Amino acid sequence: MREAQRVTLLNSFDRSTLTAAPRACACPGLMRIVPARDGGLARLRLAGGVLSAHAARAVARAARVCGSGVIEVTNRANLQLRGIRDDAHAALVDIALDAGLGPSAAGGDDIRNVMLSPLASDGTRALAAGVIDAMQADASLHALSPKFALQLDAGERLAMLDHPHDLWLSALDDGARFVFGFAGTMRQHPLGAVARSDLAMFVVDVLRRFLALAAPDEPRMRDLLARIGTARFAEALRFDANADAWHREPADGWLRLGAHAEPQRATWYAGAQTPLGRLDATLLEALADLADTHAEGRLTMTPWQSVLISGIAAHETQVVLQRLRALGLATDARDPLARVIACAGSEGCAKSRADTKADAHRLAALLPARESRDEAQVHVSGCERSCAAAHPVPVTLYAVAPGRYDFHRDARAVARNLTIEEAAERIARNHAET
Ligand code: SF4
Repeated sequence: MREAQRVTLLNSFDRSTLTAAPRACACPGLMRIVPARDGGLARLRLAGGVLSAHAARAVARAARVCGSGVIEVTNRANLQLRGIRDDAHAALVDIALDAGLGPSAAGGDDIRNVMLSPLASDGTRALAAGVIDAMQADASLHALSPKFALQLDAGERLAMLDHPHDLWLSALDDGARFVFGFAGTMRQHPLGAVARSDLAMFVVDVLRRFLALAAPDEPRMRDLLARIGTARFAEALRFDANADAWHREPADGWLRLGAHAEPQRATWYAGAQTPLGRLDATLLEALADLADTHAEGRLTMTPWQSVLISGIAAHETQVVLQRLRALGLATDARDPLARVIACAGSEGCAKSRADTKADAHRLAALLPARESRDEAQVHVSGCERSCAAAHPVPVTLYAVAPGRYDFHRDARAVARNLTIEEAAERIARNHAET
């Protein structure tokens, strides 16, 4: 982003938003930087998870120059930089804007929460861009909570269908129309349908109505609907109530790993799991080099905290997979690191009762490689807020003290105060029994 545009954004920034986020940095209209135990935490929102190799190098530079060098892939397919120094906020904003990673309107950064499939087509990405542009252009919508989130689904095989969204939209009639639902996932029955050409305006109408009706202590759609009900919320919206023809085929999240032919293209993509969602500047630069050298120069982050490199010639896929493995990423569902997730833990979060990242690495090393792709995911959490998991995970270890965890299966505590070794043994035993 050019300097004049940055100055325009800074000048048009509504400083009253500072009162809504008193702990954020002085430039939240451009980027929210929140304090954490290990320094500032800066979220970089990516359009549908996509990051050019050029932008990836800029992010790596920002992580080194402004922070601790630690970069995380979030479960909404964004990036966040950790350890941002107080005196480096302006430099970070400059680097991000120059790399094209900022909002198009001051105050619009927080509302760019539209999740797409990592394999979304150019047409779906263009549709999402239109929706985001419409949201950013309406300054009244900038009051939405940064957690308010949308999903736009075109029926791709690789899609995260388990994250609840405040508003979800899914293609009907080959994308000529989209069905929608509120405060949940696509496993619900949709409430109605809208034409593709009306989609951006419909989203804006939904968001305006939400803000008009929601009380200050109701930041999410589920909060409002719990008080007034879905029927009353929807009564002022214009849509076709007949969505019976919609059916969502199951998705396969394991398609995020390994090499696969790209839908409707002659090229392939290669996918790999970042270890517990973490990269560092050197690794991100290596991924950017790989995307430039063997593909079409872009990376796509996924809601599984993994990365895809797309546009690879078929004969290059094995080379790319080998390089990804050499960089320490898992490219196979049988690798335990592909199945373990963990929150920031005591290194980055004052609420954590344990160093979850270190413990999750120990746990993954103790789990055997499995033959089945159906092995359950394991979630290691520093407290009950479960930041790392936006969806239900079959096995969760909740920290109770350093190195000690309560073992929950399907949201029910089944063992208390286990060591990591005891938890690993129990997971292995449960897998053997199922
Ligand atoms: S789950 Fe708890 S301990 Fe972990 S990052 Fe979130 S708030 Fe912190």
